[in-house]
Amino acid sequence: MGAFVHRVPATRNSILLFPLRCPPAQPEPSFTSLASPPGPDLEAAPQPGQFSFETDAEPENDPTMKSLPSESFVGANPASVVSAIARGAVREPRAGFAVFFVLALVAVSGPARAAGPVLAGEAISAAGGDLIVHPINHATLALQWKGLTIYVDPVGGVGRFADLPRPDLILLTDIHGDHLDAATLKAIVSDQTKLVAPPAAAEQLPADLRPRITVLANGQTNTLLGVAIEAVPAYNLAADRQKFHARGRGNGYVLTLGGKRVYLSGDTEDIPEMRALKQIDVAFVCMNLPYTMTVDQAASAVREFKPKIVYPYHCRGSDLEKFQKLVGDDPGIDVRLRDWYKP
Ligand SMILES: [Zn+2]
Repeated sequence: MGAFVHRVPATRNSILLFPLRCPPAQPEPSFTSLASPPGPDLEAAPQPGQFSFETDAEPENDPTMKSLPSESFVGANPASVVSAIARGAVREPRAGFAVFFVLALVAVSGPARAAGPVLAGEAISAAGGDLIVHPINHATLALQWKGLTIYVDPVGGVGRFADLPRPDLILLTDIHGDHLDAATLKAIVSDQTKLVAPPAAAEQLPADLRPRITVLANGQTNTLLGVAIEAVPAYNLAADRQKFHARGRGNGYVLTLGGKRVYLSGDTEDIPEMRALKQIDVAFVCMNLPYTMTVDQAASAVREFKPKIVYPYHCRGSDLEKFQKLVGDDPGIDVRLRDWYKP
């Protein structure tokens, strides 16, 4: 097995990609410029009818993380692996066993749901097949499990998603331009794609996308395409930050798929509802000022709810090495620092 699927080592605090520190905060091309100085504000609410394409010009508009060097067979079509064995391209002394194993794996996991390419990324063992994690940029990521492809906050133009399977399910967390981009959504959905959004975000979407939307407010749950989805609160605590994310407007999510519980924080501080989370296997936790929270807050919350794996995301300008150090080794949390802002 090891010859065919190189997993990301499940070591604590693994560091695979550099830089460890998100690039310094920098003025963004204008999503919308409602914000106060010093620069255009990614978090500013879009004007009615204003859904910009400017995100295509973002300097970090790198789509795909196509090659993660230690994971060359993660996401590979099992048939291609069998074919490689048959060609002798994979030198495995017990190739016969390997063929049997791969065929058995296919039999167990069933055919892929998506017609497009299999998502490349980091494999996390789950029931029925690996959960694949594919960071894209800032708050945008893709997940795949048993051929079901999920996008979270897809923004930044269709180019970012050109090499990825089309989404079966899209989760939106909030109304700001780094989370909701109607033009990108319209370009990437298939006829089958379902959308989940909080009420305020659903209202921002154009009419032709609305029939796809399942609206979930904080605390509401639904199961779509076999994925249990719980909308959880995401908001600012600090008085001077509540203007960015008012309580009740945005969603975080807890997804249950393949027996794994995946937490997506959305834009939030270290709210009591986050600290009270239980049995989270994989967490995506935001940290950046002035919009969400400090790395100290994030690390403190993570140490309290103890996800097995945590990916800092939505972390532009944050000192991720400090976050990792503050989480520490003693809780046994695998801190995964990734480059969410590749040039
Ligand atoms: Zn944001």
